[in-house]
Amino acid sequence: MQNNTPISIPLPSIPRVLTRPFVVVNCAASADGKLALPDGRQTRISSEDDMAFVHRLRNWADAVIVGIGTVLKDDPKLTVKEKYVPHPSAPLRVVVDSKCRTPAWAEILRGEAPTLIAVSRKHGQCPEGADIVECGDGRVDLRCLLEHLWERGVKKVLVEGGGTLISSFIDEGLVDEFMIFIGDLLIGGKGPTSVMGKGASDFDGVVRLERYAVFPMTRGVRLHYRVKKEG
Ligand code: NAP
Repeated sequence: MQNNTPISIPLPSIPRVLTRPFVVVNCAASADGKLALPDGRQTRISSEDDMAFVHRLRNWADAVIVGIGTVLKDDPKLTVKEKYVPHPSAPLRVVVDSKCRTPAWAEILRGEAPTLIAVSRKHGQCPEGADIVECGDGRVDLRCLLEHLWERGVKKVLVEGGGTLISSFIDEGLVDEFMIFIGDLLIGGKGPTSVMGKGASDFDGVVRLERYAVFPMTRGVRLHYRVKKEG
């Protein structure tokens, strides 16, 4: 049954005192936990009311971060659409891309919003149209990236994926809130999930969440969690 009542979903509230940017992860998965088709190609998971929330969330953020895997597979714009948010802001778009593989044709280099590519010290030639920050030796050091963003005045960060980047943010203990839209569909196969990486080796290694909100959407459900800090 479809429920077309618009739900006003609150945006995250950040603590009054911060020492680094507040980090929210948001992604959309099928009911069997897949973020994309088995070969990694994008497929429509979110419903229209969820897209409206995602754009409000982007508008809330000072910076929106994705991994290079997502840029190469989805070629996202990562801008805020006026269709969903009147007079949208232009949060900084950030690609985590150790070798600077972002192609010159990428949509993320176009449009009104500024773009930053976070690279490692061993990066290759970078395309024009983006600021570059060097963080880490082999792979981008996410703590260094957050410090750089903090120095630029970024207080609210939205990490939109993919699962490899999300797992690194989680492993480093850098995620404050985890939000997921679970769509009314099954994808199957062994494609990307919301948290990739090595995963927990035993129960002591799992990351504990505290669920604080559940929102029924027209074609799925949205779950919002706080990430429990260790100790
Ligand atoms: P990803 O997480 O977007 O990017 C991973 C890449 O980022 C790594 O391979 C690595 O490449 C780079 N990287 C640099 N430093 C890193 C660090 N410290 N930690 C982790 N990664 C780092 O790629 P993905 O996991 O393959 O995800 C892409 C898939 O997710 C696509 O299928 C896309 O459609 C899907 N997706 C779905 C959603 C959704 O909400 N449904 C959202 C986003 C993406 P280098 O070493 O070369 O830098």
